[in-house]
Amino acid sequence: MFNAGILKFSIDLIAVLLLALGIKGLSKVRSARDANRLAALAMGLAVIGVLVNSLGIGGISTKAWVWIIIGSAIGGALGLVTARRVPMTAMPETVALFNGCGGMSSLLVAIAVAIFPVTENQVEIGKGIVEIISIAVSIFVGAITFSGSLVAMAKLQGWLATPAWTQSKFRHAVNISFAVLCLVAAINLFSQGENSLWLLVIGSSLLGIGVTLPIGGADMPVVISLLNSYSGVAAAAAGFVVGSQLLIVAGAMVGAAGLILTQVMCKGMNRSLVSVLFGGALGAASNTASKGGGEYTNITSCSAEECALTLEAAERVVIVPGYGLAVAQAQHTLREVTRALEAGGIKVAYAIHPVAGRMPGHMNVLLAEADVPYEQLKEMDQINPEFPATDVVLVLGANDVVNPQAKNDPSSPLYGMPVLDVQEARTVFVVKRGMSAGYSGIKNGLFELINTSMVFGDAKKVLGDLLVELKELGVGRKT
Ligand code: NDP
Repeated sequence: MFNAGILKFSIDLIAVLLLALGIKGLSKVRSARDANRLAALAMGLAVIGVLVNSLGIGGISTKAWVWIIIGSAIGGALGLVTARRVPMTAMPETVALFNGCGGMSSLLVAIAVAIFPVTENQVEIGKGIVEIISIAVSIFVGAITFSGSLVAMAKLQGWLATPAWTQSKFRHAVNISFAVLCLVAAINLFSQGENSLWLLVIGSSLLGIGVTLPIGGADMPVVISLLNSYSGVAAAAAGFVVGSQLLIVAGAMVGAAGLILTQVMCKGMNRSLVSVLFGGALGAASNTASKGGGEYTNITSCSAEECALTLEAAERVVIVPGYGLAVAQAQHTLREVTRALEAGGIKVAYAIHPVAGRMPGHMNVLLAEADVPYEQLKEMDQINPEFPATDVVLVLGANDVVNPQAKNDPSSPLYGMPVLDVQEARTVFVVKRGMSAGYSGIKNGLFELINTSMVFGDAKKVLGDLLVELKELGVGRKT
């Protein structure tokens, strides 16, 4: 006889295993694509599991089925179109939006369960202490994730700057008042229903805005991974609300993975997790619009031809990829250039900063697309001691991650963030289109150093020119 419960349990179990395998596979660039598909399959199975389970509950009508199918189809189509259309450079905004959608779902589920009592065969399931706590947590974390993610998305998109007042100590008092409001509303959920519910929604949403608004500049990657973790916690709480083990396990996995990533990012940025959790300890005024960031004097620039001549004479070259390389989509041309250099007997390595680009692992993904051997990618701790023995550093569309002010200038918003010590190399070439600032919006002292030369132009165009020049010089022709 058909047993919906057993079938649902089996589907859930397979979905959880696939999701765990998917998350594990995402830790390696090579397996990341398949892992992503696996995780998507797991989520697809989860939806099927919910539908199958509803067969066993007399109270769920065909109408509900239709709604679930329509919702899944619209959500799936929107996700597919967005994923196909969004360029790699806009991934952080997209991820922030997706995190926000996750938070919003948990929020809506908790509100729905709180307002419309769940019935099973027309018998109302009573709301005990566990249910009320689950609803409160789901609303609290879901609303923080939702509003915080929208703020993060607006900042990344350049629609929202960090207001100056949010940099004062006063913001902590404001956020504490929102947190107290949430606590009072959550406690009152036990005695008085709906009013406290809406108070909790408003308080948590304001808290989400309050803790995200002050964070800016170089700290945005940490915020995104933290919000990702929150969306997992919100989903797990929603799992308790609707009694779905699958949602609890999947949410917990996303929450834990997000937290680990946040810690990795904090370590890479030399930031404390606590300071980011409570709205940032920095005075970093975010400036997502790429502005000049200050006046420059003593800038030396050169042509691709001069750069090629220096490269030809080098024994050891380090490439520093940054956001501009991704914008120019110059990874394949870069690979051709490095192939020519290697064929000419020049040793090439790639220095990868943990927050280069606009999403965690951005440069790894970009270079993997161009089949750059994984062994040549060196993390910051590994490559920094090697710069003094490097002949040429080629900085390609990177700016903040090579800004020495992060080490030397305590007043800089970047201060404390570990950077690549490229200035220690004999010669540094910086390829970018002009003197625009990087993501943090500040001036970069590297560009004025005596051993730095700017090679102005789009990264792809400059690399194409370099390739031509290297070929003309006969670099790589010997083998
Ligand atoms: P930056 O954003 O600091 O600088 C990029 C530079 O690339 C700009 O100065 C720009 O100058 C140049 N550029 C843009 N387009 C091109 C092009 N087509 N060709 C050549 N150059 C180009 O990049 P970094 O990678 O050094 O630093 C990343 C920053 O982003 C950090 O501050 C980090 O905190 C932040 N961030 C990182 C996230 C992550 O998860 N990795 C997420 C969110 C923010 P010009 O216009 O003059 O060409």
